[in-house]
Amino acid sequence: MIQYSNGRITIFQSALFQTTSTVVHLDDFVLVVDPNWLPGEIREIKEHVAAVQGDKPCYLLFTHGDYDHIIGYKAFPGAKTIGSAGLAHHPDKERKLELIRDFDATYYVTRDDPVAFPELDIVIGEDGQQVTIGSTALTFYLAPGHTEDGLFAVIDAEGVMIAGDYLSDFELPFIYHSAKAYEETINKAKRILRDHPVRLLIPGHGRYADDRAEMDRRVHVALDHLMRLKEAVFDGDEEALGQLKLEHGFLSETTMECHKENVRIMRKELLGGAVRQEGQTLNYAIRPISDQDIPFLWDMLYESLYVPEGGKPFGREILQDPAIAKYAEHWGRPGDIGWIAVTDDGQPIGTITARLFDESNRGYGYIGPDVPELGMAISQSYRGKGIGTALMKALFDELRKQGISRVSLSVDPNNEAAVKLYRRFGFTDVDAVDTSITMVADVERTAYSFGGAKGEEDIENR
Ligand SMILES: [Zn+2]
Repeated sequence: MIQYSNGRITIFQSALFQTTSTVVHLDDFVLVVDPNWLPGEIREIKEHVAAVQGDKPCYLLFTHGDYDHIIGYKAFPGAKTIGSAGLAHHPDKERKLELIRDFDATYYVTRDDPVAFPELDIVIGEDGQQVTIGSTALTFYLAPGHTEDGLFAVIDAEGVMIAGDYLSDFELPFIYHSAKAYEETINKAKRILRDHPVRLLIPGHGRYADDRAEMDRRVHVALDHLMRLKEAVFDGDEEALGQLKLEHGFLSETTMECHKENVRIMRKELLGGAVRQEGQTLNYAIRPISDQDIPFLWDMLYESLYVPEGGKPFGREILQDPAIAKYAEHWGRPGDIGWIAVTDDGQPIGTITARLFDESNRGYGYIGPDVPELGMAISQSYRGKGIGTALMKALFDELRKQGISRVSLSVDPNNEAAVKLYRRFGFTDVDAVDTSITMVADVERTAYSFGGAKGEEDIENR
C-alpha cells in the first residue's frame, strides 16, 4: 500500500513488519529503495516505477542487507545498485537468502523473480560520500549499530532522508551489531538533521515523519532507550530491564528476542571501557583469551608476582618454576577461563584467569578440585584505571554462566589494592600461608553486588 506520495516521492508500506520501500522520481533517474516484501507488493512498486520511469535509468539503493530489505532486488533488472561497503562484503549473504527461502516455503509464497543477494555497482565506504547522478546529488552516511552494513541517504534537493532501520515511529532500537555504534549512529542522524534541509524522514519500518518535532522526538526516544538500557545492564537492575522490554511495540516472541539480544550485546560491550592515558582517552575491549594471547599471558603471570615496594624483582626464569608455570602452561585445557583487556589499537593490557587444580597439583590458593583459582594482572602503566574491575566482572559473568559456585585466590596481604578489590567482589579470607592469604568468593552472591562496583584500584596478585 502507499503510505505517502507528493508526486515525486512515493512511500510504499508492506503488510509485513510495516517495512517501507521508497521510490523517488528525479529529473534524471528513478531511485528505488529496498523494494519489498510480498510478490503483489513488489509488483505494485514495479508498476509504479514503470509508469514514471520513461527512458530514465533506475537506481536501486539498499539501506542494509537484512532479508526484508533486499527481497525485491531481482525485480529491477538493469538497475544500478548502491549500498555500503559492509553490504558488499556482507559475511552472511547465504544466510540472508535462506531466511527468504524459509519464509516463502513456510507461507507457500511464489515469486515472479528469483532471490539473490545484491551485487553493488556503487559502493559507499565513507561518511558524507556524495554520488551525483545527472543533476542530483545524493549524500550517504554509514549507519552501523543495527547491522554493520547500515546506510543513511540524504537527497538535499528533495529534502528527504532515508534512515533504514533507525528512527521508526514504533520500533525501538534493535541492536544486533553494536550498542556503541548504534548510539553513535543516532547521534550522527541528529547531526544530519541539523546540517541538511530534511523535510521528510523515512524509516525502514513504520511511518514517515514530516515535521521536525517528530524527527527530534524519534532521536530522543532511541537515545533515551539506549541510555536506560545501559544503566539497567550496568546496575544489574532486572526490574528496569523488564520495563524496557515492555516498551517495545507489537510485543511478541520477536520483540522479546530483540530485547534479549540488546541486553546481551550491551552487557558484552559494557565489560570494556575507556581509560585516560598520557592525556588521551583510550578505549579497550574485553574478550576471551585465545591462542594468540598466550605469550602475553606468560608476561602477565610474571607481572602478577607481587614484589613489595623496594623489594628486588624476580628474574624472568622464575616462570620456569613449576609452582608458577602451572598457572599458564598448556593454556586452553578444559575448565580454563580467561579474559584479556585489549586497547582499540590492539595492545593487550591485562588478563584474568581461572583454572582448576587438584590435590596432586595444588595452586597457592587451592581449596578444592571443583573451585577454580583466580589469577589477574594489569600492565604496570594501566593500573588504577578500573580495568581490574572490568576484568573481574567479565570473569564472574562467565563463572555464573557456567554454573561455577565458588572461586578462590591467593594474595599477599601487603598488596592492599588487590585485597581491597577482591573484598569488593565478595572475597573473604579462609586461610593464611606464609606470606599469602587464601580468599574465596561465592559467585552467585557477588553477581548481585555489581551495582556501584566502579572502583579504580591497582591490581596485582599472588
Ligand atoms: Zn528491517
